[in-house]
Amino acid sequence: MSGDKKISWPAWLPIRTELSDLIPYGAPQITGVTALNTNENPFKVPAVVVGKMLESLPQVLENLNRYPDRDAVELRSKLAQYINTSTNSKFLVNNIWAANGSNEILQTLMLACGGRGALGFLPSYSVHPLIAKATGTKWIAGERKSDFGLDLDSALSQIADVKPGLTFITTPNNPTGTCTAIADIERLAQACLAINGVLIVDEAYQEFSDEISAVSLISKYPNVVVVRTMSKAFAFAGARVGYAIADEAMISAALVTRLPYHLSSATQALALTALACSELLLAEVDALISERNRVSKELEKIGFIVIPSSANFLLFSGFPNDAHQTWKALVAEGVLIRDVGLPGYLRVTIGLPAENEQFLAAIAAHRP
Ligand SMILES: *Cc1c(COP(=O)(O)O)cnc(C)c1O
Repeated sequence: MSGDKKISWPAWLPIRTELSDLIPYGAPQITGVTALNTNENPFKVPAVVVGKMLESLPQVLENLNRYPDRDAVELRSKLAQYINTSTNSKFLVNNIWAANGSNEILQTLMLACGGRGALGFLPSYSVHPLIAKATGTKWIAGERKSDFGLDLDSALSQIADVKPGLTFITTPNNPTGTCTAIADIERLAQACLAINGVLIVDEAYQEFSDEISAVSLISKYPNVVVVRTMSKAFAFAGARVGYAIADEAMISAALVTRLPYHLSSATQALALTALACSELLLAEVDALISERNRVSKELEKIGFIVIPSSANFLLFSGFPNDAHQTWKALVAEGVLIRDVGLPGYLRVTIGLPAENEQFLAAIAAHRP
């Protein structure tokens, strides 16, 4: 990404050759600005939920001499319940995996199944190729259409040609906000099954979308793995909880490559409380969706082109000057959005109404 420099490693440091050109993932963390750059949920954890978390803490703290439940059984069964209720399905504990953020889930899956390489369709979530490289998984970069939709025919033939162990599809996609229809995901699942490959559907923003979740495909296509996170819709990014919904055999593979006791007892307890309060936490999703639609209309009104979004952020273009210069000017005005490295585009996360107003006022000076 712009501004990031390659690291010159000292000769004595035997970094693996294929990693020597990589730079650590990182959106700028700048203090004292309105941060609309990492797709976090702007709502604080409600006081009632904080109170319940505090009640659960003494028991957790006095037992910190013990390792946590290595397989996080209670948490996984509650995650199954959440998914079953929200998608009308019947998953059991053995269909769920949980870890420190969905990024750790992705790493665990790549360690297990990355032997034949991983394919993704760009632009998409930049962490997928990064984890691939870090785990020694060959990364194959497919493309999207110019409107950022998936080119289904090209994707299907690429899967058949390359025969990747893992194929990634992010929907709603980050950084574009665009959705892939469930019928197209089913075609991808078929194509992956035909080459004995897994389709990983990254649904980090699913709760902000109207599209049917790909969990509905798992009973028919056991090679479909749906990855979710509590970081976005649940306003729980700081706690680091992600999970996967998959066939039992896939969860068994994750058990092989996970680190023992990877999910701390504190994380498990906090996540259980958050799930018990899911209605309260998810109530904010509707507010974010209507703010997203409002900000999108406002941007269009002043002349920007906004990519239709099913997530909690907007990708937009139409800057009279270089997009990166505009990004810098906004930072100087105290508004931090994201330059995702797509020429001519910037991405803004939907914040609280007052933060969105501040962003709209600042960006108006850079209208087309
Ligand atoms: C934010 C995001 C994630 C992950 O986050 P965690 O905080 O690690 O759960 C995963 N995938 C996509 C596409 C994201 O945007």
